[in-house]
Amino acid sequence: MPHIPTAGDRTPWRASVLTLFPEMFPGPLRFSLVGQALEAGLWSLALHQIRDCGIGRHRAVDDTPTGGGAGMVMRADVLAAAIDQARSVVPDLPLIYMSPRGAPFTQARARALSEGPGVMLLAGRFEGIDERVIEGRGIEEISIGDYVLSGGELAAMTLLDACVRLIPGVLGAADSLTHESFEGGLLEYPQYTKPREWEGRATPEVLLSGDHARIAAWRRAEAERITRERRPDLLARKTKT
Ligand code: SAM
Repeated sequence: MPHIPTAGDRTPWRASVLTLFPEMFPGPLRFSLVGQALEAGLWSLALHQIRDCGIGRHRAVDDTPTGGGAGMVMRADVLAAAIDQARSVVPDLPLIYMSPRGAPFTQARARALSEGPGVMLLAGRFEGIDERVIEGRGIEEISIGDYVLSGGELAAMTLLDACVRLIPGVLGAADSLTHESFEGGLLEYPQYTKPREWEGRATPEVLLSGDHARIAAWRRAEAERITRERRPDLLARKTKT
């Protein structure tokens, strides 16, 4: 069973998710290193059903957009009650609404969040949430990309996966993190493994040389070439900082 936090929880890194679909979790986060870390108590996952704070017999959480328009909007009063309830369990977590309007999620942000106490994530549905709750509860908005998902749950899982793998002790070799894409502002160099030759394609000779300095220089040059070709914006950002 995953570790579920209670008041006074001392898990190193705590995640709280407010959602209409708590049964979607842990979902993919149950597997591999992130799942093992959950089992081991290196991080915890608390799920809050927003509908528990819904209005009336049907526990309504949404209503029509004021001013007209398609779809439904999640109510500020319902969301505020759900947030306040979740915060009464874990009060000190940054509160983030997964939103296509939000600041783009980056590796730097994942690292900063992984170094904090954890996160409280709000997963939206329908046309989104009433603006007043964003202002009233001081909620930050984060987007996982320039496309629209049908709900915030997959976005929340993406953010959690990226953060949890950076928590000390979750990945085996700390070194594997330092050479990854985006670390140091570059995309990763090409990787190879056995066999040495596959369908007529040889592994680059330098990687078989055993000369660590030459290998490091080749990898650096390849990382720069690939970044220049595919993501010149990353190089531009890197030279500014
Ligand atoms: N009407 C909204 C808009 O145009 O910005 C889209 C609402 S979307 C159908 C429903 C929910 O999915 C949002 O409230 C948000 O929580 C989530 N979502 C959709 N795309 C996302 C993205 N790119 N990043 C993070 N969350 C997203």
